[in-house]
Amino acid sequence: MKTLLLTLLLVITSISSAQGDFVINNVTLFNGEEILENRSVAVSNGTITKVSKRPQKAETIIDGQGKFLMPALTNAHVHTWALPQLKEAAQAGVLNLLDMHGMEPMQKAMVDARTSLDGARLYRAGYAATTEGGHGSQYGFPIPTLSKSADAETWVNDRVAAGVDYIKIIVEPWKKTLDKETVAQIIKEAHKASKIAVVHVSNEEDAYNSLISDADGLVHIYHDKPMTDQHLQELVEEKDFFVIPTILTTVLIQPLYFNKTKEETALIEANLLKEVKRLYDAGIPILAGTDPPNANINIGSDLYKELAFFAKAGLPIEAVLASATSLPAEKFFLEGVGYIKKGYKADLLLLEQSPVNDVMKLNTLSHIWKEGTLVEQE
Ligand SMILES: [Zn+2]
Repeated sequence: MKTLLLTLLLVITSISSAQGDFVINNVTLFNGEEILENRSVAVSNGTITKVSKRPQKAETIIDGQGKFLMPALTNAHVHTWALPQLKEAAQAGVLNLLDMHGMEPMQKAMVDARTSLDGARLYRAGYAATTEGGHGSQYGFPIPTLSKSADAETWVNDRVAAGVDYIKIIVEPWKKTLDKETVAQIIKEAHKASKIAVVHVSNEEDAYNSLISDADGLVHIYHDKPMTDQHLQELVEEKDFFVIPTILTTVLIQPLYFNKTKEETALIEANLLKEVKRLYDAGIPILAGTDPPNANINIGSDLYKELAFFAKAGLPIEAVLASATSLPAEKFFLEGVGYIKKGYKADLLLLEQSPVNDVMKLNTLSHIWKEGTLVEQE
């Protein structure tokens, strides 16, 4: 019996590894940094084993002529509560999701599903830091809050004990909110625990205060006014941080929450795009996130629209594609993803048409591989 089981196991293992071995020849690709033409990518056992200029041989050869290959996408700002969302994301080529506030106990099953081959991997902040009655406390699930900087150490340690990947802080003055000192202390405690700390802000002053207190990133762009030249210069010189602008969200909520007209919203959009380009030009990494399900944004293909906003803002295509691939992988320490390079996971997207001149061509996605296994498209 034992021998039979062992034989069966061996057969299963060899079948699955055979399925995972293939090459894509003569393809134009984005490797996470630059666009390269006429490349050949070999995949074995779920890993990229070689990227070369010469066509390679394998049992399964995919002709990439006229097609475009890129790393699978990461959405750097989402909210999740159930397993089907992970599949929905994967169907659009989004294989990593960074949750920015949710119920820790409910997230456990989703985190455990990271190894599944048909859903996105979930990374999470757990509960976001907010004060009692503050933004983030209104969603109908109980959350632990804090009110003063002396609470920061215990609060952060509780998140770490719950297994979170990073710390998220909410500063939102339309309700009661955390004060500057408490925010600074949470960031300090997060760093002490080797976690990065990211902050929800909506105005320039809170953005500056959070970043000058060593926040690693903003999960929204401020939308009251552009950052002052003095603040921007000071931050660029002294600090190291990224911005997840969530342009799509910020634009969509204008008529919904602030009663803005079409014309007013168009002007806000133009100003936000100008600010994103300004931050990019100042050397600040721009990451893509869309904050679903806010403003009815979906957890899958709506991410392409955020990339289209970055392109419209004037970011070069390499920066647009990096915002949802290599950059979130680097900034959130996601292991082995975000690049098409030897040794990385074969998390790959094959597009029928090139997104170089129109990033919405992501809609021509024909193949999605997670660790070398084809994600069946429904
Ligand atoms: Zn959010």
